[in-house]
Formats: sequence, structure tokens, C-alpha cells
Amino acid sequence: MTITSSVEAEVLAGLAAPGDYDIPWQQSGECRRQVKEGIRDVKEIMRLFYPTRHSTPADILVAKGMCEVCPVRDECHDWAHETREPNGIFGGETQEERRLQRSAARRAYKGKD
Ligand code: SF4
Repeated sequence: MTITSSVEAEVLAGLAAPGDYDIPWQQSGECRRQVKEGIRDVKEIMRLFYPTRHSTPADILVAKGMCEVCPVRDECHDWAHETREPNGIFGGETQEERRLQRSAARRAYKGKD
């Protein structure tokens, strides 16, 4: 794959953890591997991993399928929860799924009072 712009290069560098480019496990992500090996381009990865109202359920399943086989899925999953990443699919979960888990945890915690 040829990286055609500095924006694409920055996106590629940040895949799996936008805004924090120095996390070692990112280098081993399946999403990044697919870009590095030319299986998908950066724009397609971004479209799949950052769902919008135009995304289809199939798009989300494709992204989740990559996470399913990813060797750093646990690290990615935990990172997204620890940083409260507001957007995107990480560790096989959408932002909505992370939000629902946080809500459930808050309700469970309040129930212990
Ligand atoms: S778990 Fe998913 S989003 Fe995270 S690095 Fe792997 S493929 Fe990418």
C-alpha cells in the first residue's frame, strides 16, 4: 500500500489508539496489519472502525471480525475502557457497547449502597 498523504500517515500511526501514537501494542493490531499489508486502505479501515449513521451492520461485523482475531484485543479493549474512548470500535466493542457497560457498572455500584 502506498500512503498518499500526511493525513493518511498520521491516521495509520494512530490506528487502534487515536491521539496516542506511542503505545507499543498498537503495532501488532490486526487493523494495522491489514493496512500495512495492503489488504485494506486507511480510509476503509477508518470507515469500518468509526461507524456513522451511514454504516451498515455488515460494516460493524467486519470491524469486529478483525478484532476477534487480533493478538492485542485485550490490550485494545482495556485501553478503550480506561481512556473512556468516546468513538470507534476497539477490542471488538462499539462506543455504544462501552457506554452501556459503564452505565450498567454505575447502576450495579449504586445498588450496593
Ligand atoms: S482489537 Fe480491533 S481495533 Fe484493537 S487493534 Fe485489534 S483490530 Fe484494531
